[in-house]
Amino acid sequence: MTVRCLVGLLLLHKANHRFLEGKAVIMTLASTDLAGDFTERVRANQRKLRSELKSHYDFIVCGSGSSGSVVAGRLAENPDVSVLLLEAGDDDDVPSVTEAGQWPANLGSQREWRFQSPGVGQNFQDHVALDCVWEYREAFPPRNSMVEATFFWRSDSSLDSPDLQIIQYEVPLSSAQNATGFNPPAASWELCGGIVQPKSRGRIRLTGSDPLDPVQIESNFLSHPDDLKAAIACVELCREIGNSAPLRPFTKREVMPGALKGLALENFVRDDASSYWHMTSTAKMGRDEMSVVDGNLKVYEIENLRIADGSIMPRIITGNTMAPCVVIGERAAEILRIHHKLGTPATNKLDNFGRDPVN
Ligand SMILES: Cc1cc2nc3c(=O)[nH]c(=O)nc-3n(C[C@H](O)[C@H](O)[C@H](O)COP(=O)(O)OP(=O)(O)OC[C@H]3O[C@@H](n4cnc5c(N)ncnc54)[C@H](O)[C@@H]3O)c2cc1C
Repeated sequence: MTVRCLVGLLLLHKANHRFLEGKAVIMTLASTDLAGDFTERVRANQRKLRSELKSHYDFIVCGSGSSGSVVAGRLAENPDVSVLLLEAGDDDDVPSVTEAGQWPANLGSQREWRFQSPGVGQNFQDHVALDCVWEYREAFPPRNSMVEATFFWRSDSSLDSPDLQIIQYEVPLSSAQNATGFNPPAASWELCGGIVQPKSRGRIRLTGSDPLDPVQIESNFLSHPDDLKAAIACVELCREIGNSAPLRPFTKREVMPGALKGLALENFVRDDASSYWHMTSTAKMGRDEMSVVDGNLKVYEIENLRIADGSIMPRIITGNTMAPCVVIGERAAEILRIHHKLGTPATNKLDNFGRDPVN
């Protein structure tokens, strides 16, 4: 996998504290302040709960990401339930988290965490990103998140559904290899093509027994020939749009890839293929021997352990992954509430035969 760099400017997320006004204690390396009244209440509540740490909690949730924060928040809505939320990441009360346009500053920082039944770590899937860049005729300062427009397309009209997602970035990105070869000016914009139904499969592996040892990610991008075909079609589509007459007033010149053909285009695609930051599927839900969790998110052969995050997707979804992870968190919380009969009126229902529907 190539490492992408932002050429012009310098993510992201984790403003998930809206869920934390209740009874979940979030333990992080530092404090978790944000601005505003609500945040003040969260902050005070968290301080109090942290100072009263207990030796026993009803639930321990590991990771306050898109799914984990939802699971903890929903469980903590019940005042009789105690939840400990363990979060390894850094403090959220910094501009790089609270201001959308600052997201790239988190890349490579402490806030970006780098990530055994036989299936654990297998089946790695990610969307593959490909950068096509144009120099601005007149440079515009980036606005909002810098990434505001997207569309889906088919690389082949015979496909049932789109396999490409293209996003317009107001700044240029590139793999390190192509940044060296094409040297995109900072005042550039790009169409970032994405392969969103990849057939290639990778894996992640531990490199040591220390929890702080890095993991090794083998993404295997473009190892399936259909992915390479889709990638080439994607770059051709981006070029067609980027060089089209309606965009000419904004464009001084095409920076990369230019009119490459055959092997030269294939080499560009291989050099550029990088992560869309949508890593999923390494603890997949299912029933075969490579499945890690069952339909209720229980880890096979381990008592009292469930997984709720992007890793349980058997196949990566066709599109951005954050919202589905929130839904996974919602479903996990619902399963736990029903299974442990936590008394939330809307969800704590037995089925029509008086049975627990999730067990
Ligand atoms: C740079 C970037 C940009 C993205 N942009 C978008 C986008 O625009 N739209 C979109 O839909 N998706 C986007 N995504 C993807 C989206 O953020 C993820 O798919 C989603 O957040 C995954 O949710 P999750 O719950 O599986 O894991 P995460 O949200 O990653 O949560 C995992 C949490 O666990 C914590 N953790 C890890 N190890 C430990 C440990 N040992 N102990 C305690 N805590 C631990 C981590 O710190 C983290 O907070 C982006 C991702 C990145 C990295």
